[in-house]
Amino acid sequence: MTTTYTRDYWESALSGLTLEGRNFIDGHHRDAVSGETFTRIRPMDGRPGAQLARSSAADIDAAVASARHAFASGVWRHKDPAEKKRIMLRWAELIRAHGEELAMLETLDVGKPVLASLNVDVRLCADGIQYYGEMIDKLYDEIAPTGPNARALVRKVPLGVIGAITPWNYPMIIDAWKLGPAIAAGNSVVLKPAEQSSLSAIRLASLAVEAGLPAGVFNVVTGHGEEAGKPLALHMDVDMIAFTGSTEVGRLIMGYAAQSNVKRVALELGGKSPLVVFEDADLDAAASAVAWGCFYNSGETCHASTRLLVQRSVQDRLIAKIEAVTKSDIALGHPFEPSAQIGALIEEAHMEKVLGMIAAGEKEGAKRAFGAEQVMSETGGYYISPGVFVDMTNDMSLARQEIFGPVLAAIPFDTEEEALRLANDTIYGLAGAVFTTDMGRAHRFSEGLHAGTVWINTYDMSNFATPFGGFKQSGFGRDRSVHAIDKYCDYKTIWQQFG
Ligand code: NAD
Repeated sequence: MTTTYTRDYWESALSGLTLEGRNFIDGHHRDAVSGETFTRIRPMDGRPGAQLARSSAADIDAAVASARHAFASGVWRHKDPAEKKRIMLRWAELIRAHGEELAMLETLDVGKPVLASLNVDVRLCADGIQYYGEMIDKLYDEIAPTGPNARALVRKVPLGVIGAITPWNYPMIIDAWKLGPAIAAGNSVVLKPAEQSSLSAIRLASLAVEAGLPAGVFNVVTGHGEEAGKPLALHMDVDMIAFTGSTEVGRLIMGYAAQSNVKRVALELGGKSPLVVFEDADLDAAASAVAWGCFYNSGETCHASTRLLVQRSVQDRLIAKIEAVTKSDIALGHPFEPSAQIGALIEEAHMEKVLGMIAAGEKEGAKRAFGAEQVMSETGGYYISPGVFVDMTNDMSLARQEIFGPVLAAIPFDTEEEALRLANDTIYGLAGAVFTTDMGRAHRFSEGLHAGTVWINTYDMSNFATPFGGFKQSGFGRDRSVHAIDKYCDYKTIWQQFG
């Protein structure tokens, strides 16, 4: 029987939900050593939500010690690969089986529609764990060419203890992008989720142990960046930090690695991705891609298509179509409403920051076509309607800064050469797209765009087989695909001489 998801359904599910906010260390829930907690405010209505452990260096020490012990004991990395695979596949199944619960936790924390949490975030999290689980018994090492009297094995070995620090916009998906390859490669992980969105991470960890992952292989420590993230990144017994978040904090992470044990870092950072529309493009397809690409998840997406470069001759027609698609298809609403396609922003301070950026942009002369206003304030939640600014130039603040809200800057151009120059004129290089029916131009342009992912006549399409990450100040290192495994391993040569 299929469930009909109504607002009442979710309200009643919420009343029976336990909000576990303690750390998960060595297979058990634990309060912070200090006993301190903090309250998460729900973005959907501004009401108090879960109480979470306010962790500090002492909690990080305990989690790293547990992760190190699990790694050194070999309880996971030396397990039969077929058994490791079975455990990860069981974990993926448990995530699916607890989908509604996880979706609710994600929505309470992040404010996105619960059906998006269920159908996108939970699904992709489970799929990610499954993808890397399936890989475990298919990874081979190498034998290097040598003379007949020697044999050189080139082994790919796990690094040890991985510190993962993740953001709040797609918590479960980004956690899976790190947990899947790091754990499949045989490492132990200490995850510090964003202070705004820790509930799903804590539940993922308890489900992992239920699936058979040995205690200590996956630990979660909650808390603030300076108090819990920094000691993790500075820790002398952590071998690598896999970070997703802002470029500003990514820069700090590199510094912490240098100041401590020269641990490796992989950084997935911010973006200001261009979507370029030529006058020969299918404008309906482009309008839909722009609207969903920029406004999905309320614009809180690192690779959101926030800069629309549009050939001047079609700007007005395209903007009219974007407005029509936005108003008809991308309904903003309470996250429990089944009709809602986008919900609240993450917190009040972030909403105020986005509104401040919009106001500053208007002072500079940005011309509003529609939207980009605070709405639904009577709910107590933090909502901004999707909005577009037109006739922009690429040097205006709305076209340069990562806003992380539902705000599109439309910049007209005249020639292909100008479009490419403007598209690349940003400190970021995460993603981009080109819409044209001229395939020669599409490929020329996609080669010229300096971005980790370039889409042709579409936006935000991907699967686990494709690497994801950025160039320039969008970071380095790639999540997803078989290549992500390499990030969590290193090569070890074992040379045996016979003669
Ligand atoms: P953020 O950088 O503020 O925080 C990210 C994480 O870092 C959080 O867990 C936070 O607690 C922690 N942190 C903060 N200060 C720290 C410190 N001094 N030391 C150690 N850890 C610290 O980012 P956010 O606001 O959570 O997320 C939004 C940002 O993430 C945007 O810039 C967005 O583009 C980026 N992002 C990038 C990708 C990608 O794949 N490239 C994906 C999602 C989000």
